[in-house]
Amino acid sequence: MIEAIGFIALGFALMEVFGWAIHKYIMHGPLWSIHKTHHQPSKYFFELNDLFSLLFGSIAVILIIKGVAELDYRFWMGIGISLYGMLYFFLHDVLIHRRMKWFQKPKNGFLKGIFRAHQAHHRTNEKDDAVSFGLFVVPKEYFKEKD
Ligand SMILES: [Zn+2]
Ligand SMILES: [Zn+2]
Repeated sequence: MIEAIGFIALGFALMEVFGWAIHKYIMHGPLWSIHKTHHQPSKYFFELNDLFSLLFGSIAVILIIKGVAELDYRFWMGIGISLYGMLYFFLHDVLIHRRMKWFQKPKNGFLKGIFRAHQAHHRTNEKDDAVSFGLFVVPKEYFKEKD
């Protein structure tokens, strides 16, 4: 059981670490042409950038399928990645970008910090001068109340 929780946490943590690196060095790098659809206003509901979510989702599904018979580390890491994906969807797509208008602007301190940090990321529509590439792990300054 403790092992399962460990691998779930590992899958979750790896997503934030790899997500940060992929966002900073690949999405704002060679694959900017795909990711820029998330930095520019669009009249369509889906963005080409959603392909990245599909890719991470597929990795989770493959791990879960490969590990389900023995309930080994692959299964639990797949669960951790899925959990990250769901939280990412609620925070990033629903709460911050309001692709679905389910919630109002967050009032809770932690959510406000994440919100501000991601808004800072979107302050530019350019490839090169963006800041704040993670979602959950962001600089402390964003959690300070300034408004
Ligand atoms: Zn970006
Ligand atoms: Zn965004």
